[in-house]
Amino acid sequence: MRLVVASGKGGTGKTLVSTHLAWLAAERGLDVTYADVDVETPNGHLFLAPVVEREHRHTVLLPSLPFGHCTGCGVCHDFCQYNAILPLPDSVLIFPELCHNCGGCVRVCPPAVLSEVPHEVGTVREGRAGNLRFLDGRVDVGEPRATPLIQEVLRRIDAGTLAVVDAPPGTSCNTTAALSGADRVLLVTEPTPFGLHDLRLALQLCRTAGLPAGVVINRADLGDDRPLRAFLEAERVPVRAAWRYDPELAVAVARGELAGRRVPWFRDAVEHLLDACLAPQEDGRS
Ligand code: SF4
Ligand code: SF4
Repeated sequence: MRLVVASGKGGTGKTLVSTHLAWLAAERGLDVTYADVDVETPNGHLFLAPVVEREHRHTVLLPSLPFGHCTGCGVCHDFCQYNAILPLPDSVLIFPELCHNCGGCVRVCPPAVLSEVPHEVGTVREGRAGNLRFLDGRVDVGEPRATPLIQEVLRRIDAGTLAVVDAPPGTSCNTTAALSGADRVLLVTEPTPFGLHDLRLALQLCRTAGLPAGVVINRADLGDDRPLRAFLEAERVPVRAAWRYDPELAVAVARGELAGRRVPWFRDAVEHLLDACLAPQEDGRS
């Protein structure tokens, strides 16, 4: 089963939830992989402290034109949906930062003078944290193509295991890529107007993708949770867990520790959440 832990708003506690779910699942003896695909700011490693066994540089293919072979027909420009290629009288100007590496221009070029060259986008790391298999991706600074790196991390998840995926926040292409292959989604939120606003968007994304989503309310006693609760009830979204603010959790997170090791009630709360995630769902999915 692949469980994706996402959120609309950043900073709601997504990594807190995902690292604990993976850690406690491994403590139960389950074959579990934690995959951090929040590739612009991966931080699950700070809490799980994995031993990194392998690192891979990931590349994508970008179009390239050996100078002087182009007829300037513009077919590549007409094909490109991202305005990443501009025809000149006998050449083309390629804007790599706009290119989505679809490879289409290379295939439609009538004289077949475009070629593809590898371009590094980031690093995938694999390792272990105790019984847990650890994966994360780290996109290069200034690199706009995070999606292929996310797809590569997900591709390395072993089939047949329990995977806990730490998704990027928001509802961007990166989050959409992280949801690919999900069986279930947990949306972590907080009872604030921003939290509710972004949760609505995230829920809409999950529904568009046909994915069942439940909600975790972090710091449920801070702010006014009535609008959030009313929304979830009206939309019939199950609340899988809700817990209060505890300064001890904040201290553990600031120290880069698994809070469940020092705060017993929090460990119990995540154990219950894990039970809920592993149980058959109301819609009959197992
Ligand atoms: S590879 Fe695709 S996105 Fe990139 S320039 Fe060619 S057509 Fe455009
Ligand atoms: S399709 Fe090929 S020949 Fe035509 S403008 Fe593009 S690169 Fe040049």
